[in-house]
Parts: sequence; structure tokens; C-alpha cells
Amino acid sequence: MITIGRGTAPGHVAVVGAGMAGISTAWFLQQQGVRVTVLDRTGVAAGSSWGNAGMLNPAFTVPLPEPSVLRYGLRSLLDRSSPVSIPPAVDRQLWAFLLTFARNCTAARWRRAMEVFNELNRASLTAYEQLAEAGVEAPVKSADPLVIACRDRHEQQHVLEEFAHVRESGGDEASFETVSGAELRALEPVLSAEVRTGVRVYGQRFINPPEFMRILAEAVRGGGGEIVGDHPVDRVVDLGPDGVELVPSPSAPAKGVVRADAVVLAGGAWLNRLARPFGVRMRVQAGRGYSFTVRPRDMPVRPIYLPGPRVACTPLGDRFRITGSMEFRAPDAPLDPRRVRTIVESARPMFSGIDFSDRHEEWVGSRPCTPDGLPLVGRSRSPRVHIAGGHGMWGMVLGPLTGRMLADAVTGNGEPHPLLRRLDPLR
Ligand SMILES: Cc1cc2nc3c(=O)[nH]c(=O)nc-3n(C[C@H](O)[C@H](O)[C@H](O)COP(=O)(O)OP(=O)(O)OC[C@H]3O[C@@H](n4cnc5c(N)ncnc54)[C@H](O)[C@@H]3O)c2cc1C
Repeated sequence: MITIGRGTAPGHVAVVGAGMAGISTAWFLQQQGVRVTVLDRTGVAAGSSWGNAGMLNPAFTVPLPEPSVLRYGLRSLLDRSSPVSIPPAVDRQLWAFLLTFARNCTAARWRRAMEVFNELNRASLTAYEQLAEAGVEAPVKSADPLVIACRDRHEQQHVLEEFAHVRESGGDEASFETVSGAELRALEPVLSAEVRTGVRVYGQRFINPPEFMRILAEAVRGGGGEIVGDHPVDRVVDLGPDGVELVPSPSAPAKGVVRADAVVLAGGAWLNRLARPFGVRMRVQAGRGYSFTVRPRDMPVRPIYLPGPRVACTPLGDRFRITGSMEFRAPDAPLDPRRVRTIVESARPMFSGIDFSDRHEEWVGSRPCTPDGLPLVGRSRSPRVHIAGGHGMWGMVLGPLTGRMLADAVTGNGEPHPLLRRLDPLR
């Protein structure tokens, strides 16, 4: 144990999961003098934190369960080209998740969850600034302006209504302008004539996820932290005042038991199994997304969002990453090439000068989705077992803030952040 202020804090914390949630928490713990050991069944950014769109968009970081998502979900049962995909054979656990999710898709519940997101959105980029100020040299780029490219006024209207809903719920006014397709093409010549209208949004940022994760992990190592790959954790044993023991899975017999004063479970879409014995009943369901990269003739310099097919695209150096789809399946199921084709078919008409047959880095990853759309951040039933996860669509933008709030809660540094009450993993 170590002393922080007038209290004692765990001197050594193990973190299960080297994604954005786990590595961020490890980094903020280190800032307070805590020794950290991060264990991952594969390695740094082996889950959802690798192939995502890397958008840091407080202007439209909103809870996933909302009335229009429910409409999409119902449509997907009939239409295989829908961005939301529900497998024809649904098991009991997935049914339970979908039913609770559907119950949360009302305007009233969305507004209530949005109150939490409004607070998170006001603070999310400050946690990124803190990383930069402390010398984490991973670039965070300004998207000014981020481009929302619409086929018609109907799509544009939907975006504007979403901004209006955020404002009505008490959120910060997004700074945006509606523009014509021609104005957007002047900014980003990669957009085709199918883009007839759209929105320019200011104040948003983006990262290159694999690069960012690598540099953040290096910073944790540089601060004396250990990050161990190929180390699947099978279970956590709570030893009371003696701390915790992390037992490796039988598939990794060479890995020993790791002991620590406390543990943070940050296993992304795989969170349930380790967290349930500690009272976390809320199911984290894999909402699988797909991505691939292409090399456009005119390389965009900012992220582009296509609200019709719900496709998000981000420039990563000399490649352009195209992401989309929401597939409710097991996180370890293989990549389904039909989902990639669906993204290609929906994105292709909106761009010119991209050879979509020359795709690289095809990837599937699991957004850790909760049925109420809110993350799970805070203490479990055991004072030694903490949870960081369930960020769904928004774990990149909210990861560092989560790490900061949770690290303070683990060490008892200051008053617990008031938002943690709403993110209680035991809710
Ligand atoms: C297509 C797509 C686009 C996205 N775009 C954005 C975006 O633009 N902006 C944004 O903010 N978010 C975005 N997201 C969401 C974001 O990627 C996730 O919310 C975030 O990566 C979740 O981070 P995590 O650390 O909780 O989980 P993960 O990154 O999945 O990390 C969990 C880690 O835990 C490890 N693990 C699991 N179980 C065990 C175990 N038992 N033992 C050891 N290790 C274990 C896994 O190997 C994995 O490395 C997107 C997601 C997808 C799929």
C-alpha cells in the first residue's frame, strides 16, 4: 500500500485488458505513484481499440439506445444491407440484452442518459490534454471542420435534429454550418456528386488508433509499468486484505498467478465473465464493427461521416480507414465478409477516386455495448475489484477520462467524481 494525501491506496494494481480503457487507467494510476501490471490475452490494442475510426467527437458522442436505432434494428431483421445486424439464431443471453436495449430506446431514457454524456463530453478532451501535457507524444489532430456528407436533405435534417436533441438535453451547442455538396467537395475532393448536402462541424478531433495506443502503452512502460501479452486471465480471486490473485487460463500454462493489491477489469466485450462474480449483472454485449483501409487518389485531411449508412472514415497517414456496421454476435466469431461488402456498397457511391477492390487491413472488433448505453466505471462489490468498460461506440474519446476518474476512485484521491454514481457497475 502507498500513502496518498491522508489515506492509503493500493501500491500495486493489476489491469486486465490492454485496450484504451485499461491502458488509460494504468497511465493515470501511475501518475499517482501506483505500480501497474497490465495483462492482456493477446497484446496492446488487440480488441476494439485497434481498428476503430479514432474520432474524438464530443458534438455527437451520444448514448446508443435511441428510437432511430431501434427502427434500424427492426429493419435489419428483413434487410441484410442494414448497418445493424442481428443474427437469425439469437441465444437467450442476446435476447435478454436486446430486450433491455429496446426498452432503453425511448426518447425519455435517451435524454436521461444524455445528461451523463453531456458531462462526459465537456471533460473528455481535457483528459487527452492532460496526457499531452505530461509528455505522451501521441498526436491528437484537429478535425476542423469535420465533414458530415449527406445524400439529401432528409439525412441532413436527421443530423440537425440530433444536435437539437443534445442541446435540449442541456448539452453544449455544437458549432456547425450546413453546406452544399459542392462546398464539401471543395474541402474534400474525394467526395462524389452523390453528396448533395451536409454539415461542417467544428471543435472535433481525431487520432490514429493503433499509433495512439502504441505510444500510450510505451508511456506506461516508460513509467515503470509492465504490460504482458499472451496472458489470458481465467479468474480473479479476492484474498481480502491480502489483495487479489489473477489466475491465468489453462491455455497459458507457462503464465504464473499474478498478485496485486487491487485489480481493474477492462476486458472490453469479454468483461462479463471476470466481472460477474463481483456483482456486475449488466451484460456487456459485443456490437461488432468492421473496418478496412483504402488509398484514395485525393487523400482526405479530416474525418468524414456518412450518416445514411452510418459509416465513419478517418485519414491515417497515407491510408483512409472506412468503418461501419453494428453486428450483435459473439466477440470471437470470425470476420463475416458480407458485412465488409455491405460497407463497401454503401460507401462507394459517396466517394470518387477510391478503388474499393484494393482493400487492406480488413478487421472486425467488438464495441463493448451496455443495454442502457452508459459505461461501467467504478468499484464492484469488492473494494479491491474495479471496472472500466462498456463504452460501446465511444471508448476512444471517453477512455482517458474514464482512466482519470477511475484512478482517483481506486486510490481515494479527492472526492469521488459525481458522475461515477451514474456509471456504477452494480446498477
Ligand atoms: C468499427 C468501430 C469504430 C469505432 N469508432 C470509434 C470512434 O470513432 N471513436 C470512439 O470513441 N470509439 C470508437 N469505437 C469504439 C471503441 O473502439 C471502443 O469503445 C473501445 O476501443 C473500447 O475499449 P476497451 O479498452 O474497453 O476494449 P478493447 O479495446 O476491446 O480492449 C479489451 C482488451 O481486453 C483483453 N481481454 C479481454 N478479456 C481478457 C482476459 N480474460 N484476460 C486478458 N485480457 C483480456 C482483450 O484482448 C482486449 O485487448 C469504434 C469501434 C468500432 C468497432
